[in-house]
Amino acid sequence: MNSRRRLVVVGNGMVGHRFVDQLTSGPQSDGWDVTVFCDETRLAYDRVNLSKFFEGQGADGLTLATAEHYAAAGVRVLVGQNAVAVDRAAKVVRSSTGQAVPYDRLVLATGSYPFVPALEGREAAGCFVYRTIADLEAIRAYAADVSVGAVVGGGLLGLEAANALRNLGLETHVVEMAARLMPLQVDEIGGAVLKRRIEALGVGVHTGMATKRILVEEGRVVGLQFADGGQLDTAMVVFSAGIRPRDELGRACGLAIASRAGIVVDQHCRTSDPDIFAIGECASWDGRVYGLVAPGYRMAEIAVEQLGGGGDRHLTTFDMSTKLKLLGVDVASFGDAFGLDAGAHTVSLVDTVAGVYKRLVVSADKQRLLGGILVGDAAAYNQLLAMVQTRTALPAEPDELILPRREGSTRGGGLSPANLPAEALICSCHNVSKGEICEAIATKNLLDVPSVKKCTKAGSGCGSCSTLVGEILKVELKKAGVTVNHGICEHFPHSRQELFHLVRVKRHRTFDEVAEAHGKGAGCEICKPAVASILASLWNEYVLGPDHAGLQDTNDRALANMQRDGTYSVVPRVPGGEITPRQLIVLGEVAERFGLYSKITGAQRVDLFGATLDQLPAIWRQLIAAGFESGHAYGKALRTVKSCVGSTWCRFGVQDSVSFAIRLENRYKGLRSPHKLKAAASGCARECAEAQGKDFGVIATEKGYNLYVCGNGGMKPQHAQLLASDLDEDTVLRYVDRFLMFYVRTADRLERTATWLNKLEGGIEYLRRVVVDDALGIAAELEAEMKNVVDTYQCEWTTTLGDPDKLKMFRTFVNSDAPDPGIVRVPLRQQHRPATVEERQSMVRPAETDRRAQ
Ligand SMILES: Cc1cc2nc3c(=O)[nH]c(=O)nc-3n(C[C@H](O)[C@H](O)[C@H](O)COP(=O)(O)OP(=O)(O)OC[C@H]3O[C@@H](n4cnc5c(N)ncnc54)[C@H](O)[C@@H]3O)c2cc1C
Ligand code: SF4
Repeated sequence: MNSRRRLVVVGNGMVGHRFVDQLTSGPQSDGWDVTVFCDETRLAYDRVNLSKFFEGQGADGLTLATAEHYAAAGVRVLVGQNAVAVDRAAKVVRSSTGQAVPYDRLVLATGSYPFVPALEGREAAGCFVYRTIADLEAIRAYAADVSVGAVVGGGLLGLEAANALRNLGLETHVVEMAARLMPLQVDEIGGAVLKRRIEALGVGVHTGMATKRILVEEGRVVGLQFADGGQLDTAMVVFSAGIRPRDELGRACGLAIASRAGIVVDQHCRTSDPDIFAIGECASWDGRVYGLVAPGYRMAEIAVEQLGGGGDRHLTTFDMSTKLKLLGVDVASFGDAFGLDAGAHTVSLVDTVAGVYKRLVVSADKQRLLGGILVGDAAAYNQLLAMVQTRTALPAEPDELILPRREGSTRGGGLSPANLPAEALICSCHNVSKGEICEAIATKNLLDVPSVKKCTKAGSGCGSCSTLVGEILKVELKKAGVTVNHGICEHFPHSRQELFHLVRVKRHRTFDEVAEAHGKGAGCEICKPAVASILASLWNEYVLGPDHAGLQDTNDRALANMQRDGTYSVVPRVPGGEITPRQLIVLGEVAERFGLYSKITGAQRVDLFGATLDQLPAIWRQLIAAGFESGHAYGKALRTVKSCVGSTWCRFGVQDSVSFAIRLENRYKGLRSPHKLKAAASGCARECAEAQGKDFGVIATEKGYNLYVCGNGGMKPQHAQLLASDLDEDTVLRYVDRFLMFYVRTADRLERTATWLNKLEGGIEYLRRVVVDDALGIAAELEAEMKNVVDTYQCEWTTTLGDPDKLKMFRTFVNSDAPDPGIVRVPLRQQHRPATVEERQSMVRPAETDRRAQ
């Protein structure tokens, strides 16, 4: 006789999966035959990270479970089967396909469904919800044929859905009935700051707007009509107006249901029927349904324990704190965010210039942090949350916790992770405390974040605590006296900075010399270009020379930037943006002759796209004959020095910024560095050349130039900082020589100047002491190193054209001079662009017409 008991789980979402996983991997697994009903067509996946489906992750990247895994655990999963009824008397679950599965214990993990308000028109084509992979597939397919989309609901998920529409290339609008975005998480000021930031991204935000009906024509959505009579034209609508627990099975079989919906459970997740449990978003505990994954996971763990015969664990109040990156904007809300506690105080920082709002709610006795709101910068979230949860004493000046650390100041920057108590909860998704992380680091000898994540699970949920986990690891390793390996890769135990000094002091000239003296193995795609860059910065030899060619990455090898279709772009240098009419004509002639797509860049150069590898030498021959030089657009090197027209033409100009920009560009062109470098010169304080957004920039004053350093655009834009004022041109050059060489010597691989400065102890004050005051006594050496670079400059394309052996590298096929036949283009505004994958598949033959003869 079979003594095993039968367990049925309905729902294979995040919580249902967690439950089965815990059960089958723990001691309770013995004795249960498990059957799971899964009404979606795929096994459990990571719904929290659902939006990554649109970020190239696809459905596979979200998978939480595999059929093999369940089979190995002896779990029977009925994929695509809906459980439609529970017969409690017969203890049987019936499915839509007529199956009847008996149970001794039943676990309901049916989650919730998105709430769609009862609006006229909501059934029309173009109306969607945002909950499952199938929903996202449908949204993507529909979005391909329309250009405008609106999201109804400006809460957490609404903004996530808006991000998805925006990423799909639609003009996007968010419509929120409340007076502000995310009304449940942020206050009025936070909502306003958030709105501004989101609008700055080009998303239309319509707050205080009640949608009255969906406007439909020929069965398809064409717009929204608002209660105030206004309208919004849109071709699709995504509803994100909240969730409702899927409690219909429980309701139909007579389980107790909460007044505001959800299957009622006790503190051990048992429903009103002792043989039936409910966990996750379908369950209501203490009158509340929790729409977050962490409470669901806790319920799963408790239910597993109960099946094993009971245990101490039970439900306690859940923390509803949240941290999200919405449309790239950090938002967090934790604890008593709105200051409801009697007598609570508020400490806040509102910076509408940077788009940052931080509010701390402090207890009436000013001893503890009760909660807070962070918009625009939520880096401190995990630490602050841990302080609330562990009732850590506040510092004497609580604003320290939210003020950014300024250079030269010891104030601000938050609490050190070293000061957090052991019980501080670091990862709320997986319920991991600081103490558990520290113990794992010490007892299992963990040395990097991935090992900590793997071992403790901390940081492997929503990921918001990963940075803090890394900081704790650093503190613990330092305490234990462990030297952390800063090696750039497995072949070198040295950082880029250390390697730079070794190469310089030992005067190594080739990668082999460096590897033999300081590394091991044959090198890889990380260390080879890094060493190549160091050798180039120091000795400035021809990058395709016999000892260096094999070290370069694709772009440096082709002396051009490879584009998405495998062709290259050609970018000649245009110092200061000054270009003769003749040169403009030549650029046009080259573009016409080789069928290149032409574009003026934002940095005053002309990009010619679509050159095949074999065309590059002929193109450059013609360009060099017209006086152009290689623009180094392919290298980690100085790209451009942008200029405004300055006093030559402009009524406001106080200095000749064009001449100075040309002088600067010609001095530093070709300098190889840890990352690409950009610069600018503006002729007056109106700053038309945007010098404060560059790695170095000068702005003219009546007395000379102000020199700014370490600004950049890119992923994390940062304003440059003033290094010195009212300098003459020669002094600027001297300081820039020192600054650039100091950066080149000491920065990490692929580290921008802004990040480098942020990490530099003492910040801009320290940099000023080194560069301006020569506090380290190395200024002469830095200048001499730069002089060597300047004196040994060569146009890499000119050198290449003079070397028949090197020209052999510019062939698509080793054994033939024929061009690449696989290039397919489609017309675009009188030019052309590369074909997309779909277009390539639908085309019979490459568009030969665009490939003119050389
Ligand atoms: C876009 C998005 C982003 C989110 N971001 C976050 C976040 O950042 N942080 C956070 O904590 N939470 C987030 N959540 C919420 C989180 O995903 C849920 O809390 C969690 O998935 C709940 O798990 P669950 O198993 O209870 O429900 P679900 O994951 O919804 O799983 C329930 C499953 O049961 C199935 N089912 C229902 N009825 C039946 C039936 N009768 N028969 C068979 N199968 C059935 C459903 O189809 C579903 O597959 C997000 C949710 C979404 C949609
Ligand atoms: S920065 Fe000054 S000088 Fe240069 S273009 Fe603008 S207004 Fe004219």
